[in-house]
Amino acid sequence: MQDWDIRCDVVVVGSGGGALAGAYTAAANGLDTVVLEKTALFGGTSSYSGASLWLPGSVVQERAGLDDSTDNARTYLRALLGDAEADRQDAYVTTAPAVVEFLERDPHLEFEYQPFPDYFDAPGRMDAGRSIIPVDLPSEAAGEVRELVRPAPIVDRAGQLHPDETLIAGRALIGRLLLALRGTGRADLRTRTAVTRLLTEDDRVVGVEATDADGRTLRVRAERGVLLAAGGIEGSEEMRAAHGTPGKAQWSMGPAGANTGDMIRAAVALGADTALLDQAWFCPGVELPDGSGAFMVCVRGGILVDATGNRYLNESLPYDRFGREMIARGESALPSYLIFDSSEGGPVLPAMSIPEASADDHFAAGTWVSAETIEELAAKIGVDAATLRASVERFNGFAERGVDEDFGRGGDPYDTFFCPPRELPNVALPPIATGPFYAARIVLSDLGTKGGVRTDADARVLTVDGSPIEGLYAAGNTSASVSGAIYPGPGVPLGTAMTFSYRAVHHMLG
Ligand code: FAD
Repeated sequence: MQDWDIRCDVVVVGSGGGALAGAYTAAANGLDTVVLEKTALFGGTSSYSGASLWLPGSVVQERAGLDDSTDNARTYLRALLGDAEADRQDAYVTTAPAVVEFLERDPHLEFEYQPFPDYFDAPGRMDAGRSIIPVDLPSEAAGEVRELVRPAPIVDRAGQLHPDETLIAGRALIGRLLLALRGTGRADLRTRTAVTRLLTEDDRVVGVEATDADGRTLRVRAERGVLLAAGGIEGSEEMRAAHGTPGKAQWSMGPAGANTGDMIRAAVALGADTALLDQAWFCPGVELPDGSGAFMVCVRGGILVDATGNRYLNESLPYDRFGREMIARGESALPSYLIFDSSEGGPVLPAMSIPEASADDHFAAGTWVSAETIEELAAKIGVDAATLRASVERFNGFAERGVDEDFGRGGDPYDTFFCPPRELPNVALPPIATGPFYAARIVLSDLGTKGGVRTDADARVLTVDGSPIEGLYAAGNTSASVSGAIYPGPGVPLGTAMTFSYRAVHHMLG
């Protein structure tokens, strides 16, 4: 017998998009739900995100007049992922429309289509993308919830106060879900409460043990189930090393100290099987002056070279594919350098850096260097001058002809999507010709790891022999992703997290 401090139907561990979508599904269906979040703020990495949601075949796409469907999305996933996890792929695409329809029934939850191309040229692809995003949440509508949502990376990492502004993207998603949860009257939402252990009775998970803000132990009983949605192992250098996950905790985009694999370890202690622990949603990272990494996305210029001064990839690749090329290149690619010129009016990185630091701070820290000539630049970053000069000249030849003969940059709809209109043979291939020239140090970052406990189509956590652990469910980056070592399109991390959380709760509802 255990002493319980709180009794409820469902405990949700973590407070990202998957966790809160699951909690809302439970609470809106009449289940008393407790959300336990380790840090002082709700939202995790999900708050930082663009909140693109790969939830195909929904009413939102229909409203936008998009010619997409569940079958089309299934075709795309199958083409990329094969049949290995066919049941989970099918569960994902067939449930996604219901998730959106269910969420939009709540007045606080509203989505719209936003173009952002899928990441692979494969059957079923939507060239302009198929993901949806939450509608911005004005500050006044968010009310006091605004203060509870983890702010954007630039604010969160710089330790600034919350600006009084409209919540957009990931903050809109978390803000809206918190408002919807509050509206159910059935959700107990707690921050600064770290779950440390899963509690069992007769091989069934019946609750959790947590440590609250005052260091007190809290035991919470969950009659229907426990949903683990507490992120991956991105923030644990130890676990990354143990599982050979490329990159580093300090370069990862997870909020500092948040996602350290706690719930993966807790589930493994009960016999849970794991998979894909060496995998992440990879991306290139602009090394920031403090040594952390910033998600580099939407590249519109420059070339990337490794320590030999040679290009080795299409710089416009979708970020996970970019990161995987860096891994494949090996040691010489860490760090790499983005070489760019002054054609945008000075030291302006021809890409988005999330968060960004000022050029002055970069120069002071040495994470960026500048020079009047390519040869001088090469000397500053320690690469062979003749090789770097040859790389730039070869690329400039491609720019002139509009064709990247080495890596095909500018040949895919994704490559050109983020480039401004400009008078060039190929908008994705602007020459590097206007001095001064710059080099930015690029490391391997990630948007979170994607390996974790193995789950079935209902998000039930499985043991090594394939049987479910009763009462235990997992979604988001705590679970091994249905997409394996592939990132199919924008919004798959959150789309899968929300869908499998929804399915978990429906399984609990029976
Ligand atoms: P999180 O959202 O990180 O939530 C995990 C939470 O669990 C954290 O708040 C953490 O504190 C808490 N926690 C951890 N351990 C415990 C514990 N022991 N007890 C209690 N709580 C605990 N993905 C998309 O799909 N679309 C996008 O547009 C997109 N854009 C992105 C943009 C950026 C800049 C970044 C950084 C990421 C983006 N991603 C996007 C990736 C996506 O945000 C993450 O992969 C996803 O949010 C992970 O969700 P999660 O629920 O697994 O983890």
